[in-house]
Amino acid sequence: MHDHIQVVVMSYGQPMTRQLQEWLRDNKLNWRYGPSGYGIDLARNQIVNQFLREDVSRGKTHLLGIDDDMIPIRETRHILRGNEEFAYCGYCGRHGSRGHIGDGDFGAACFRVSAHLLRHLIKPYWKTTSVNDARIECECEYFRKRAEAKGFTAKMVGIIGHRQNCVLVPSKDAPGYVVVWDEELEAKHGQQLPTISAAATRPEFAGQGNPVAV
Ligand SMILES: [Zn+2]
Repeated sequence: MHDHIQVVVMSYGQPMTRQLQEWLRDNKLNWRYGPSGYGIDLARNQIVNQFLREDVSRGKTHLLGIDDDMIPIRETRHILRGNEEFAYCGYCGRHGSRGHIGDGDFGAACFRVSAHLLRHLIKPYWKTTSVNDARIECECEYFRKRAEAKGFTAKMVGIIGHRQNCVLVPSKDAPGYVVVWDEELEAKHGQQLPTISAAATRPEFAGQGNPVAV
């Protein structure tokens, strides 16, 4: 049913989410992992190169790229249907950031493109632009602009979940906790979070220094 689609899972070196494994299996998709151990844009370029080099001659007309930390939901199924040249599912970004959502705001974490579109593009397909180590443009925007310049418009056909690790620290304020993103824990270490101090709840800890341990 989806024989024309080659799925490539973008690996960040972590186990694929259970929901993505089930989605690949339940939809009987042809899939493989992309290369890992490279920068994101380099890995995405290699995924496209391999698709054009090896899969198109085997009858695959569309590449479906999906990141290993994505969680397909009911509204994700549309990425498997339709015959748009350039489709994607919207998703939230890291640490609760906006991510890529809404028509035209293409994101590379779950997308489907045709070989026809890819053949119109000149390498590199993906490129992350940084100035002084600060990322000013993600590889998704670079790809979208290049595709748009060739007359292809990205269509958001669904949405998808994005797994993020967070730590809940008890707080005296509603809803009773503060959210600290896993990767931000060290940066926040030493900052006073609005937590319930151990001294406030356990008199025996009073006077034992900073009660906040996150
Ligand atoms: Zn992006």
